[in-house]
Amino acid sequence: MLTGRVVFSISLLLIATLSAQEKPVKARAASRISSQSRPHLPPSAIAAMQGIRPDNIETHVRFLSHDLLEGRGTGQRGGDIAAEYIAAQFALYGLKPAGDNGSYLQKVPLTGITPGAGTRFTLVPTSGAASDTKPIDLKPLDDYVAYDQTQQPESDVDAQIFYVGYGIEAPEYNWDDYKGVDVKGKVLLMLVNEPPSDDPKFFAGKALTYYGRWTYKYEEAARKGAVGAILIHKTEMASYGWEVVRNSNSGEKSYLRLDGSPKLKAAAWIQLGVARNLIAASGLDLDKMMDAAASRDFKPVPLPIRLSAHMTSKVRPFESSNVIAVLPGSSLKDEGVMYTAHYDHLGIRPGMPGGNIYHGAMDNATGCGILMEIARVYASATQKPRRSVYFASVTAEEQNLLGSEYMGKHPPIPAGKISLDLNYDIVIPLGAPEEVEVSGAERTTFYPAVQAMAQDFGFKIRPDARPEAGHYYRSDHFSLARAGIPAFSITEGIKFKGHDEAWGLAQLDDYTAHHYHQPSDEYRPGMDWTSDAAMARFGFALGWQAASQPHLIGWKKGDEFEKARLASQ
Ligand SMILES: [Zn+2]
Repeated sequence: MLTGRVVFSISLLLIATLSAQEKPVKARAASRISSQSRPHLPPSAIAAMQGIRPDNIETHVRFLSHDLLEGRGTGQRGGDIAAEYIAAQFALYGLKPAGDNGSYLQKVPLTGITPGAGTRFTLVPTSGAASDTKPIDLKPLDDYVAYDQTQQPESDVDAQIFYVGYGIEAPEYNWDDYKGVDVKGKVLLMLVNEPPSDDPKFFAGKALTYYGRWTYKYEEAARKGAVGAILIHKTEMASYGWEVVRNSNSGEKSYLRLDGSPKLKAAAWIQLGVARNLIAASGLDLDKMMDAAASRDFKPVPLPIRLSAHMTSKVRPFESSNVIAVLPGSSLKDEGVMYTAHYDHLGIRPGMPGGNIYHGAMDNATGCGILMEIARVYASATQKPRRSVYFASVTAEEQNLLGSEYMGKHPPIPAGKISLDLNYDIVIPLGAPEEVEVSGAERTTFYPAVQAMAQDFGFKIRPDARPEAGHYYRSDHFSLARAGIPAFSITEGIKFKGHDEAWGLAQLDDYTAHHYHQPSDEYRPGMDWTSDAAMARFGFALGWQAASQPHLIGWKKGDEFEKARLASQ
């Protein structure tokens, strides 16, 4: 561990919960975990960690989710006020700015795209189609949704449709749906998700890899020069209904301003029934074609159908900001550890009945409150960790992780020098947690340290309950993982002191069903913020250890992000 420095191995449990009743777990931890990964924090770090206060987190959440912040929409006034508030806190703590030109703000150039009424999306049979097939005009929102990622007010597509199965090229799994077929200028029809398997060596078994996410499918199609990609929506495969696709694809959608990477003129989804008819018109059977896609021998199938589309869009360029501060390290200043939490939420949606402010108290004022409280105590510590510690509250998470994507492409120091990112996204105040969720941590070389730390805090590590849903790819740590940085989110599990698991599960289910992404995600007095303070302390301790240990953290061998890490170093 640290040489030439006094370190204490401690039982953090007592500090974490301030409960004198609990038995220290040090002995138990020591018996099972090698001394390499035992948690070691210097007294100054422990003192700082003890300074984390639940009521400070609560105060931030109360303010950020206030009506006056108008739901912190990206590109809206309330979102900009939230960014300024967080920057002001960083300044008050004495942290250094790490944004653009000596400021705390990193400008993120964005473009809002709203599909226009003039859009036409027509399937046109060509020779080879069933003779009675006529062109079909698809109905927006009912039959399909589509965005023009090229960010032009008008684009035209007239191209043959190729069915490409899952649309995946994954050499590490010896899988290629394209088989070298040139799809340049074509429109690709494909399935969401990935070939089904229980084999952990094949697309990570039941767990979803990034290859299964719809974002990958569009990116891969664009990389191959296709002009359009149409995803077939099937509820079981997508793990959400058409309503979700429809709701999240109506109205304005934000994109990072064009940066030269390839884009699709039509990035679309269609209803299963529409796809079925389209395939039947080609004299084929969709169910058989779905089965065929599960085979390694699958080859792209040219369909006797063209997509003739006239895409019209309202294009609105605007800016939002990530808020970034740094505590310079004591010796390895050029290397860092990062904390992230998105501050944006859904903003105001005029015309919605009742309360139209999406307060986003849990999502993600809680993460911001934790981030700021961690930042405050780091700044107050009498000694600093060896590496620099970055605090980044990012924008446009709700717009598909855009703020963190931009930061991953424009990090404050090279990505290869950032040892770890710890992210917070929704930590509901439910009392004293007995578990922690750190999904993705097991993919990194830091995991033994995480296990040891959890043990010292008296937390059980709860595994991802639904790895097939691909939650790892749905929050900001993922953007940094793509840049190669070992990254994961920290949150509580479902077991809380004085309650059984069913209680915890019921609380989370209630939140998901009644408050998640709804105006009623609000701050209420009387919530128990012990959990948020506990998650803050746990993350503080992990970050400190990562910032102090001799080596930079990496991905485990063979992990899907290992390549990006090696390229960044
Ligand atoms: Zn959200």
